[in-house]
Amino acid sequence: MTTIKAYAAYDAETPLRPYSFDRKELGAKQVQIEILYSGVCHSDIHTAKGDWGPAIYPLVPGHEIVGRITAVGSEVTKFKIGELAGVGCFVDSCRTCPSCKSGEEQFCEEGMTGTYNSYERGTKIPTYGGYSTSITVDEDYTLHISDKLELSAVAPLLCAGITTYSPLRYLKVGKGHKVGVLGLGGLGHMAVKFAVSFGAEVTMLSHSPSKEADAKKLGAHHFALTSDAATMDSLANKFDFILNTVSAKHDYNAYLNLLNTNGTMIIVGVPTAPAEIPAITLILKRRKIMGSLIGGIAETQEMLDYCAEHNITSDVEVIDMSYINEAYERMNKSDVKYRFVIDMASLK
Ligand code: NAP
Ligand code: ZN
Ligand code: ZN
Repeated sequence: MTTIKAYAAYDAETPLRPYSFDRKELGAKQVQIEILYSGVCHSDIHTAKGDWGPAIYPLVPGHEIVGRITAVGSEVTKFKIGELAGVGCFVDSCRTCPSCKSGEEQFCEEGMTGTYNSYERGTKIPTYGGYSTSITVDEDYTLHISDKLELSAVAPLLCAGITTYSPLRYLKVGKGHKVGVLGLGGLGHMAVKFAVSFGAEVTMLSHSPSKEADAKKLGAHHFALTSDAATMDSLANKFDFILNTVSAKHDYNAYLNLLNTNGTMIIVGVPTAPAEIPAITLILKRRKIMGSLIGGIAETQEMLDYCAEHNITSDVEVIDMSYINEAYERMNKSDVKYRFVIDMASLK
């Protein structure tokens, strides 16, 4: 057993505070990773605050993990001590269902094992995520990380990156497509970077006027303030795709109206309240709504390799672990540019 330092939510109401726990001995197929950076995803907040139902407390969030391998089990073949490694939103799955076999472990029919707020398969041992100094993971659920990119800016690729890369690739988004990205936060800023990199014409749809200059710097061709009625009217029927990253309750109908005939809204943001969608909005233009959940291990590796090749990283504000509660408050006010990343050295 090794004792690990961490930060945890102890319940849905009180601020996160220090916690420590034991990680069990390394399994034969597991690698041990010293965590260097951990991104802060809005899903950490939803989970810690119980937005999606009661969490397993104490909860150690964090599923955008990069670090260095410090030990390998006796049967590990894919990683060596000293190499960089990454861990995303899940650390295991059943490995036998059609989804797992096709490399889409995120859709595992038995349910994937989350990096936090889950139990290690077949046990009642909770999984603890990246707001901690070390993690042990099966090598098959561990990603290779390039040493070419700034590590703190790579961490958010493990969730925000793959969550936006995957649906854009699935839909073959590229040259000739008009894409709207709704919500400029962690997911939104990666969506802009990928959609631009794939050749699409990208419009940032934001309710924060202060983000216009940044949206352009990130590569967006246009910026539209969603609270401005005239702007919204002018964009009716304009987009082939809208990637919706908004974390809070909002009017889906207003944005569906911006899709052209056969247009698709990809929902990745997870507001707590259900959406009300008038059938007629879809019917009149054969519009579609689809959801998308992170991505499988193989596609996550493909995305990381694509980012290393094209020099794509996240725009980050690196924080100490003790700043986490302020970071949550700022994210709830849409005040993030554009991902908080915890420097885990601040916890050692
Ligand atoms: P984030 O960094 O906090 O960004 C969310 C953005 O949504 C904000 O910056 C803001 O952008 C916009 N927004 C927030 N409240 C709004 C409101 N009331 N009305 C309109 N716009 C609002 O969050 P994130 O980490 O990108 O995560 C976004 C959502 O995706 C969360 O619900 C998260 O749980 C979910 N998620 C899903 C997956 C998946 O696999 N599907 C993976 C990761 C995260 P503007 O200021 O530009 O309007
Ligand atoms: Zn996430
Ligand atoms: Zn499975």
